[in-house]
Amino acid sequence: MGHVPIKLIYSKRRTIALMVNRRGEVIVRAPRRAPLKFIEDLVEKRRDWIQQALARVTMGPIRQFSVREKLEFKLLAQERAEYFASLMGVEFKKLTVRNTVSRWGSCSRAGNISFSLRLILAPPEILDYVIVHELAHLKHHNHSNSFWAMVETYCPKAKQKRKWLRDNGEKFVL
Ligand SMILES: [Zn+2]
Repeated sequence: MGHVPIKLIYSKRRTIALMVNRRGEVIVRAPRRAPLKFIEDLVEKRRDWIQQALARVTMGPIRQFSVREKLEFKLLAQERAEYFASLMGVEFKKLTVRNTVSRWGSCSRAGNISFSLRLILAPPEILDYVIVHELAHLKHHNHSNSFWAMVETYCPKAKQKRKWLRDNGEKFVL
């Protein structure tokens, strides 16, 4: 990706988080003992995602999504949701995309699902996690153990992804 300066912040956390902030800086938060080589490899592995995120944030300080981006995101979400719904044996009615800040996704009792447009900025596996999470609510209207077991079946390491969203999500409020 050419040379993109990485700002490395050591903290007490136990995992490494990668983010692109609204100023277009790539920030890595890592545990103190994380070897530099490991961090570099991770950045290299996420190069596509970083590039995409950079392209998006550098378009303006307060990021608005274009109609085209919205449409593309909706198509992608629809495609992934249909894919997972058939795997999971559930059916949803309508999928909507909203520019919500408060939540990543929601599922109504009527079987409609909705996703935050901010997920555009998340890596694909995170979008899949949010989709599987909401689809699992079509069967389990709670966060019971059976709910999580279902999510985990179709989206391994679900709790790790949930944590990733918690750690990085606020940075997507652009
Ligand atoms: Zn939930």
